[in-house]
Amino acid sequence: MRDRGLSEEEVMRGLLKMRAKDLSYDRIFSSMCTPPHPIALKAHQLFQETNLGDPGLFPGSAELEAEAVRMMAELLGHPEACGYLSTGGTESNIQAIRAARNSADFRDGNIVVPRSAHFSFDKIGDLLSLEIRKADLDGDLKVEVGSVEELIDEKTVSLVGIAGTTEFGQVDPIDRLGRLALDWGIPLHVDAAFGGFVLPFLGGDWRWDFSVEGVTSITIDPHKMGMATIPGGGLLFRHPEDLERLAAYAPYLTVARPKALTGTRSGAAAAAIWAVMSHLGMEGFKEVVNGCMALSRRMASGAKEIGIEPVIEPVMNVVTLRMEDPEGVRAALLGRRWRVSTTRSPKALRLIMMPHSTAENVDLFLGDLEDVLRK
Ligand code: PLP
Repeated sequence: MRDRGLSEEEVMRGLLKMRAKDLSYDRIFSSMCTPPHPIALKAHQLFQETNLGDPGLFPGSAELEAEAVRMMAELLGHPEACGYLSTGGTESNIQAIRAARNSADFRDGNIVVPRSAHFSFDKIGDLLSLEIRKADLDGDLKVEVGSVEELIDEKTVSLVGIAGTTEFGQVDPIDRLGRLALDWGIPLHVDAAFGGFVLPFLGGDWRWDFSVEGVTSITIDPHKMGMATIPGGGLLFRHPEDLERLAAYAPYLTVARPKALTGTRSGAAAAAIWAVMSHLGMEGFKEVVNGCMALSRRMASGAKEIGIEPVIEPVMNVVTLRMEDPEGVRAALLGRRWRVSTTRSPKALRLIMMPHSTAENVDLFLGDLEDVLRK
């Protein structure tokens, strides 16, 4: 650090210079985040100094957290579910598996996850000393329930299903995994970090949340499709005793048995989550999700017109396009200022239609994609 501080003006100049290096979201098709809803930004600013790690000092913020959790519990089919607001999908997944691991009377266990699971589960293996067993996927990139069953043994502490896979936006057969979990008497955690704010608004007959017997916990991320500020995650449990398994003892705090992984926690993020959910309501979110799905269909059908097939018909607002050299295409598109990502298996170009995506940009992108593929 310098001896003598800079003036506010100099600091602001330095900040603006760096901010100008950051990309704006409009030409980004690779991100599961999006600019927060304006009301989330206002709420965040209003609560920015509050700390949910010591909720007795900030009872208003704590009420907003409780209320946001209650709204998410309703959204996920079990209004009595309990939980807390985390820093995001990674923390929620860690904590869900930690609660499951703590319910077993041994420490050298394993969990069975789909091969499509987010890389946070590899971290979980490392952190909690659990073996991560990866089950095969079927032709539609959903987990094969038979493969899951083959990997279960007496040391399995949890099964995991994904409602909205990171790479392909596919939804595992959660109802069948639920039956398996009940048969074996083990918890089933559903990772809906991305799908949690999409699937409830899609319409149709989805069975993936607490309405499925056997589902014991769910990860849901407001800082993705929930349009809240970062860091905004959610973790919900069907049974209060599972949340209790995460409690630590901190007698000097106003709440002596905190459950979250981090100590200091952002009350601003809680306020932002509460604000967007209250403001948009079910109807507002339906509109947002319908818009993203319309763009996904536009992207997939536009790609077909230039001879590229999607890996799967978009289930959610993730479009993956099969091609020979997705990495090369991605690099060429970068030269045209488009940010896209690729998948591992099968190899494809991956595009996420977020609230910041527009029909105009989808069309411009498809024109550039056609050009790049012709060269
Ligand atoms: N789970 C799924 C399905 C995800 O798609 C992601 C991130 O994209 C995560 C977990 C991790 O979330 P975070 O980056 O908020 O930790």
